[in-house]
Amino acid sequence: MAKAKKTKSKTSKAKARPQAKKKSAKEIAGPSFLFAAKITTLPIVGSNHLFPVRRIYCIGRNYAAHAREMGSDPTREPPFFFQKPTDAVQVVMPGKVVDHPYPPLTKNYHYEVELVAVLKSGGKNIPASKALSHVYGYAVGLDMTRRDLQIGMREQKKPWSLGKGFDHGAPIGPILPAAKIGHPSKGSISLSVNGEEKQKSDLSNMTWSVPEQIEKLSEAFELKAGDLIMTGTPENVGAVVPGDVIVCKIAGLPDLSIRIAKS
Ligand code: MN
Repeated sequence: MAKAKKTKSKTSKAKARPQAKKKSAKEIAGPSFLFAAKITTLPIVGSNHLFPVRRIYCIGRNYAAHAREMGSDPTREPPFFFQKPTDAVQVVMPGKVVDHPYPPLTKNYHYEVELVAVLKSGGKNIPASKALSHVYGYAVGLDMTRRDLQIGMREQKKPWSLGKGFDHGAPIGPILPAAKIGHPSKGSISLSVNGEEKQKSDLSNMTWSVPEQIEKLSEAFELKAGDLIMTGTPENVGAVVPGDVIVCKIAGLPDLSIRIAKS
């Protein structure tokens, strides 16, 4: 059976509509922020542009020797990721020793030096073979960790957020564009405390390469411009106390230095 035709004409509809009120200036401008929202950014070496940070992804246990020291089997484990809040970034300019506040609640505050890859574009299900076309550049970063809280939560099968996702927990240096340095897959990565070398490895010792990490991450999340990936730390993580000076070095990138300050 055919549907009944609509009987209302256009003219009768128009007549029924109430007369439109003139919009005020406020209505035309649209909603505004209730308070100033801060955008997290990273500086770029040799550029006036700032890199806006969207998300911070971190891979766990990505150097075999570090996986072993954390009590897991590096040969059988698929990659896993966690996130730090975007505003955990503490920008650390080269040539300076920046004060880094010792965070609350911990008695075992650890350093983890890491190569940070930053994305200029993204997508879902990115194959490793195409992953590097999304990488804008690289920086030196620290995945600072309240180890006692991380392990305590791990043992209780609770999330790692207390151990990893706290304020200032991601000191990061300026970005060097891949256009200048390429895509480092090997080269020295090291960290010293008060002049004594503690961590020392090579980027080629990563279990999952940067392209493989992007492939795996993009299966779980739609990656986007502004995303950071902290690519894992080598072995010999350890604790620092107020007064200690940490210097991080990755071949081809500017050094990153912080001094642990009282909170
Ligand atoms: Mn880490």
